[in-house]
Order: sequence, then C-alpha cells, then structure tokens
Amino acid sequence: MGDSGAHAAVRNFVDGAFVETGQTWNKINPVDGSVLSAVHEADAALVDRAVRAARAALDGPWGETPVARRAALLRKAADRIEERFEEFVRAECADTGKPFAQARELDVARAPANFRAFADTVSAAGQSSFLTDLAGGRQALNYAVRKPLGVVAVIVPWNLPLLLLTWKVAPALACGNTVVVKPSEETPSTATLLAEVLDEVGVPAGVYNVVHGFGPDSAGQFLTEHPGIDGVTFTGSSATGSAIMRIVAPRVKPVSFELGGKNAAVVFADANLEDTLAGLTRSVFANTGQVCLCTERVYVQRPIFEDVASGLVERARALRLGRPDDDATTTGPLISQEHRDKVLSYYRLAEEAGAKTLVGGGVPTLGDGLDGGSWIEPTLWTGLTNADRPMREEIFGPCAALVPFDGEQEGIALANDTEYGLASSVWTTDLTRGHRVAQRMNVGMSWVNTWFLRDLRSPFGGVGLSGIGREGGEHSLDFYTEPTNVCVQL
Ligand code: NAD
Repeated sequence: MGDSGAHAAVRNFVDGAFVETGQTWNKINPVDGSVLSAVHEADAALVDRAVRAARAALDGPWGETPVARRAALLRKAADRIEERFEEFVRAECADTGKPFAQARELDVARAPANFRAFADTVSAAGQSSFLTDLAGGRQALNYAVRKPLGVVAVIVPWNLPLLLLTWKVAPALACGNTVVVKPSEETPSTATLLAEVLDEVGVPAGVYNVVHGFGPDSAGQFLTEHPGIDGVTFTGSSATGSAIMRIVAPRVKPVSFELGGKNAAVVFADANLEDTLAGLTRSVFANTGQVCLCTERVYVQRPIFEDVASGLVERARALRLGRPDDDATTTGPLISQEHRDKVLSYYRLAEEAGAKTLVGGGVPTLGDGLDGGSWIEPTLWTGLTNADRPMREEIFGPCAALVPFDGEQEGIALANDTEYGLASSVWTTDLTRGHRVAQRMNVGMSWVNTWFLRDLRSPFGGVGLSGIGREGGEHSLDFYTEPTNVCVQL
C-alpha cells in the first residue's frame, strides 16, 4: 500500500460524490514499471453505502424516470464521452499500456456505441400481449411488464476496461436499474472518469456508483455478498465466476457471466491465404493476446500448414512493441508483471511438452527505459496436441499453437475438444462449408472469414467454462429486467 500524496489519486464514486479512503494501493504502469497512481480502496462500509445509495436511487428518482428520459440520458452520455474522447484514451492507455491507435478505434469508440445501442434497444422494446384460450370458450389477456432487476453489481476485468464496463452499465441503466461497479484493480481510471460524465449529463446521484478494490476480502467480495444487491453481471476468469456463484448461491441471485476462452481457428486448404493470415494475426495478437475472444489454438488443413505457419511467423516478427503514443506501435505490454509470470509459465510448459517454438518464447530487450515494463515476445508453437496443458488452459497472452488436421470432421472435433466455449473462427472460400462448420462449433460466437466483428444487437456470451447467459440487444433485456406477467380473464 502506498501513500496517496505523490501520485494521481483514483477515487471511489458513491451517491454522487467522489470518496477517498485511508487505504490506497499503487497502480503500476505496465509500460515501464513506474508508479502511475494511488487508488483508494473501498472497505466493507463504503461498499455498503454504495449499495444503499443504489437502492435509494432505484426507489426514488431513477425508478420514476421514464424510459424515454433514460434513453435520452444514455445518448447524452455517449455525446459527452465523445467530447472527452482523448481524456478517456489517455486514461485507458495509461492503465493498460495499449496503443493509442487501438484505444481510439476499439476501446473508447465502443463506449458511446454501447450507450447508443442500448438507448435504441429499450426505446424499441415493446410489451408482449396475447390472448389465451381457456376451457369453456373463455379467453384471457396476458401481458408481461418488464421491471428493472434492481441494484446490479457490475464486476469487470482489465483487458478492455471501458468497453466491457459500458457493455453492462448501458443496458443496466437503460432498463432502469441502478449499479455498483467494481472495476479491475489494474484499470480503475476510466470507470472513474465515466462517473464524471454520467454526473455531468444529469444521471441522478446513487444511480452509478464505483467502488475500487480487489476480489477476495476486498470490494469484489464485499459487493457480491451484500444482501442488498439483486444480481451480478460479471466479466472475468472462469475461476472467479465460479467463486462469485458460490458467494451468491445462498441468496439465489441471478448471474450473467462472460468468462474465459480457449478459442480455436479452423483453417481449410481452400482459404484465401492473405486474408486468413491477416485475420489470424489480429485474432492471436490483438491487445497482446489479452482479449477473451483471442485465438490460442489454430487448426490448419495439412496442404497449407507450412504456408500458414511461415506466414504467421513473418507477421509476428513484423509486430512493433513500443510506447502507447508511438504511431508505429502495434503491441503493448501485458497488464502486469504477475500476469507476465503466468504467461511465461505456459511458454515453459509448451517447451516441456516438446513444442517447437517458431518465434518468440521469452522476454524482449527493448531499451528506451521500457525494460521495467511487463513486455513479452509474441510466440507461436507447433508440435503440441490437445492433451497438453497449453492447449487446454487459457493463457491470455500473445501466443498460439498450430496443429495440422486432414478432414472436416477432424477439424471440428479438434476445435470442440475443450471445456471452454466462447468463440471460434472458420476460414474457407467454400461458404457452404463455412456455414456448416460454423454452426457445429460449441461456442457462443462463431465467425466465418472474420473475427471480433460485432453487431451490438447480436447475442454475446459463451457455453461451458466460458459463461452463463447472453447479453446484447434484446438478450440483455432478459438479464437486466424481470417480467411480471399480468393475466386478466376476459
Ligand atoms: P479476474 O477474474 O481475475 O478478475 C475480474 C474481476 O473480478 C476483477 O475486477 C477482480 O477484482 C474481480 N474479482 C476477483 N475475485 C473476485 C471475487 N472472489 N469476488 C468478486 N470479485 C472478484 O479476471 P481478469 O484477470 O481481470 O481478466 C481476465 C479474464 O477475463 C480472462 O479469463 C478473460 O478471458 C476474461 N474475459 C472474458 C470476457 C468475455 O466476454 N467472456 C471478456 C474479457 C475478459
């Protein structure tokens, strides 16, 4: 724990006011290992205040705010994020070390898109009403009224902080809920900046609260075990999802979980090689491999195996590791030294399992004051099988293993041989095959000849260890509202 005086302070936001606590930790800059900020940790009492404020806002001003007004506030928030766009970019890149160019195109750009998408969704959502025929020729009119779930705990990770946060906060507020947000301890800044924006556009006090801290015995646990919450929406690792499920089980709270992945690409011999290599390069190395959707297993039909391997190696070598504000940078550091230790342990496990490392495999020397940062080399292997741990466990780094296959059924079986089930991609110029194979993938999202292309109205989520439920468009309404059915005998 550090002293809060020397560095920028990141504060909690509770009941419409920023709150400092006696206790801070130092947020480390992953680019060079220096101290970036002092983050004020919320204790159980502050989490309790946040939940109570959210309940009071739900029962008070926010509960009385009509849907059209909520949608208008969300659109205003989107406009205001765009006005303060570069501030969000700088805050996000400072916490994560990711390139400015990526944050502008993806992370921060998605925040206003999330607010607008869910303003549209709630504005368009109607009530279902239908006549039911009863015995004796009588009829009844049924209609379902969607009510907010209530006080929603929102817990998010560090890899795409603002994007993943707004993906949950926008539908929650659109549906009339109030939220208590627990950002990752690694990326506290943009959630805090968002508090300013929501306050500026007129979202009432208590509707959006931020409590900072860690998981066990800290704000994450205090929030999920609080009896005043009505549900938990969580993005993060499968192990944490499982821990949260155990915490909320005694009170039977609903959960929406977007968890880890061990995603496969299946590349057929008829694939367009250039397009496939470009797509695979993104899907393996984007955000330094720290996207839940990233590909860590690449199955390639044997006739083009060598071409795909050599093409990917060439593209991995062309990646430029560097400072976020350098336009030539394609690849930032990992989020922390701790995470780098974890990824490096898989680099060692791959070698112990007999893998051939085609490129990378270690820690680069970059000079320029960067070597205190959590940098790692983009890495590709051959020679692993689905039995090896680096093929079964999520690594969450810039690495993938290439494995050959012969027939279509074998490619499908290899891709589906996992406990995870988040995303997959199929690469082929035979579109009939593309459709056929894509829908046989045991995943929530199956792409053909592309990756990470998202329509925000489509369902997002995973099967198996990758999660519970779907969010996106109307699918989000199913989690963030509780329908009450009214049946009137006519
Ligand atoms: P993590 O599970 O370690 O932490 C996520 C959040 O949960 C953090 O805010 C953390 O403080 C909190 N937390 C940890 N333990 C907790 C507990 N016992 N109770 C309450 N809260 C707790 O995940 P991470 O390392 O921050 O993120 C990486 C993981 O997130 C990867 O597994 C990745 O695949 C996954 N992820 C999934 C998606 C998706 O949409 N499926 C998207 C992004 C990331």
